[in-house]
Amino acid sequence: MSSSETATTAESTTTGHDGAVRLEDVVHRYGRGGETVTAVGPVDLTVPAGEFLVLVGASGCGKSTLLRLIAGFERPTHGAVRVTGAQPRPGGAAGVVFQTPRLFPWRTVGGNVDLALRYAGVDHARWPEHRARLLARVGLEGTEKRRTWEISGGQQQRVAIARALAAEHPLLLLDEPFAALDALTRERLQEDVRRVATQTGRTTVFVTHSAEEAVFLGSRIVVLTKGPGTVALDLPIDLPRGDVDAEELRASREFAALRARVAHAVKTAAAA
Ligand code: ADP
Ligand code: MG
Repeated sequence: MSSSETATTAESTTTGHDGAVRLEDVVHRYGRGGETVTAVGPVDLTVPAGEFLVLVGASGCGKSTLLRLIAGFERPTHGAVRVTGAQPRPGGAAGVVFQTPRLFPWRTVGGNVDLALRYAGVDHARWPEHRARLLARVGLEGTEKRRTWEISGGQQQRVAIARALAAEHPLLLLDEPFAALDALTRERLQEDVRRVATQTGRTTVFVTHSAEEAVFLGSRIVVLTKGPGTVALDLPIDLPRGDVDAEELRASREFAALRARVAHAVKTAAAA
């Protein structure tokens, strides 16, 4: 996969829609009347275009809720959410990847990607070219005709990522996408997502509870307190991006120091 791939015609459609995210005094509650749960907030957070933000925190602190607010699946109870300056609506602002791949089992791998291209409004004649490029981007060349039940869980999640990339949304949201995968597959997918994000320049918000995953992926990490989550730590990660040897990076002293720092912050925030 060469970096020249990033400059495709399709991706230039994102010009002027930078995917920057802005959360202003955001609080979200579920339920109504006396039966409400405050899930998250108050949170103030700005994610500049092109940043890879990782949200880390204990289970139940409101990570998925924040992502759903940014995706436009929920409207905040209080405060404002803006993506590229506008109120987000489902399917409008972001590609979303969930913990489980949510593929259509009766369709082939290629058929699943095609469906995303149709939703994205891509001209039918250009589907083969887009499909091949998207599958190559997630390391699935030559799998178009496979059935989704014939491929591994890791490959299924790669298809889900290809689908999320199909619409050329400038923003990519991922909610613990690798949590159900084995360690080796998880590391390989982390490397792919890191590379794809660097190559495409997409603004990315990635949710995890793993300090290791956060430090490997993020250009910035935000640790949330236990629920209702608020920002406990906001840490820029200045590890090298672009053309790096993943194994070397993971083995580096800087990596270990950051991982320890984030792990400690997560533990402290969860106990507070
Ligand atoms: P996380 O993703 O960090 O585990 P969530 O955002 O899923 O956290 O949940 C935050 C809080 O909101 C939890 O207390 C959870 O039980 C509650 N919650 C999440 N979704 C709903 C819902 N649809 N209805 C009611 N409560 C919810
Ligand atoms: Mg969650």
